[in-house]
Amino acid sequence: MYMRRLVEFAEQHANDLPPVGYARRSYQWFVVITHDDRFEFIQADRGEQRVIPNRSRASGVSPILLTDKAEYVFKLPKNPANAKRAAECHLAYMKLLKECCEATRNELVQKIVQILERQDWQIPDGMKSTDVILFRTEAGDFPHEDNKVKKFWEDFLIKNSSKEENDSVCFICGRSAPAVKRHTIEFSVGKERTKLISANESAYLSYGLENSEIAPTCFECEQKYGQALSYLLRKYANKKQHGGPHMMEIGNVTYVYWARQNDPETTSMFTFLSDPDPVAVRRILSSPFKRAENHGSLDRICILALSANKARMVVRDYAEPPVWKVKNQIRQFFDAQQIVGAPKPASIYLLAACMYRDGRKEMQKEDVQDWMNWALYGKRLSERIVAKIVRRIQARGGMTWIHAAAIRSWLISQNKE
Ligand SMILES: [Zn+2]
Repeated sequence: MYMRRLVEFAEQHANDLPPVGYARRSYQWFVVITHDDRFEFIQADRGEQRVIPNRSRASGVSPILLTDKAEYVFKLPKNPANAKRAAECHLAYMKLLKECCEATRNELVQKIVQILERQDWQIPDGMKSTDVILFRTEAGDFPHEDNKVKKFWEDFLIKNSSKEENDSVCFICGRSAPAVKRHTIEFSVGKERTKLISANESAYLSYGLENSEIAPTCFECEQKYGQALSYLLRKYANKKQHGGPHMMEIGNVTYVYWARQNDPETTSMFTFLSDPDPVAVRRILSSPFKRAENHGSLDRICILALSANKARMVVRDYAEPPVWKVKNQIRQFFDAQQIVGAPKPASIYLLAACMYRDGRKEMQKEDVQDWMNWALYGKRLSERIVAKIVRRIQARGGMTWIHAAAIRSWLISQNKE
């Protein structure tokens, strides 16, 4: 279900997401095509990023349209021993570029092909074989931003996404189309770069199917869910702010959330769970329950709990509760932890960490999930939680405000106030 919802999100936010086959990537060089048909090399600022053509590639030779590495664009080998590979890469790159010329009749791309074929460029000092190249005109136009070029790249990737002759029924959109061989888009979860491969659950493998074949996905859906999830996993540019507009990280668990009808108020309430602003929490607590009023609204929020395991993304939990229910529950979460003398509202992290001497090291993913399940869905906190808190209080010979807040929350979650 969450895959379908991610594709739906991508369709609703098409203007915010990169086109198919494009991604936000960093690059190292501008190559300006001068009015007298030469290349002029300009080094880009460190860390500069733009939305440019992209594809995930394994060990073989597979060129990226226009914005590839110097190895492909300028035949620049990693070291002299790799000259043969660089020549192969360049050949494949040129072939793709010429196909693009044929299909789009784009004058700029034609010029690039001509200059590259003359082979009279001088590779500038400091250019590495892995540096990514961006072509542009003196006026600042980029050939990869042309609509016909975009369409050509999308069609090319669709054609090359599957070697299968037979169509399968895509498990997301239900259309009959060739299934992608493997899912290509990578996601940052915690400190890892991961891929979502549902087939890594061993239960599926008993059917004797490999890779993504157990859940056939068409190229379009694979791109859409990937673009959507990358977008939702974005963090705030300002490092002082926790998480991102649609995500938060608590311990080793990453929560991603989005309202199906794009309601910024609901998503901002999530921020309070990881970083509670006392003023905002007081406002939530003092506002009257609007249960009757909100019951009618069918708007739902999608909540995905993720973690990383050896470069694989693990989907730990997915739910789609009604927005009004989650709002009321977050309110109850803050209400339940209120104790006399508390200096501030407690975040999920503080509550989950207070069971340990060193929460940062000892906290388990299950602890975070237990507390989040209480804060979002009103699920009872488990016996395990209270047992750990009591042991921690005994070990340190006394209790702090956060222990009191955690115990009060636990009691209320049992419906035994
Ligand atoms: Zn599909």
